[in-house]
Amino acid sequence: MSIFENKITLTAMEIKDLAEACGFTIDKESIDNDILEQELTITECPESGVFDHDKNFIFHKHIVYYSEYPEEGCIPIGEPICGKCKKTWAEHDFGVPAPSCP
Ligand SMILES: [Zn+2]
Repeated sequence: MSIFENKITLTAMEIKDLAEACGFTIDKESIDNDILEQELTITECPESGVFDHDKNFIFHKHIVYYSEYPEEGCIPIGEPICGKCKKTWAEHDFGVPAPSCP
């Protein structure tokens, strides 16, 4: 079983539609039509986490990357979570990031 088994690939157009379904207003003038055809893959964050801009490991429930260019890296989406217990920091017993999660 691959850690990447649970994934979905959507075009940017479909993601725009999802955002609009959620109530967001998209400025259509700001969108390049070539971008709308780009496919993005949403998947679970690896157990080992992903690097942030400072090369620190961070953890999120999901990540997204351009399907054609996975080597270019990913963008974590949603709230960060604890790398040990996988709770969001708001759900975390300590309430704040704590290095000594049991
Ligand atoms: Zn924790």
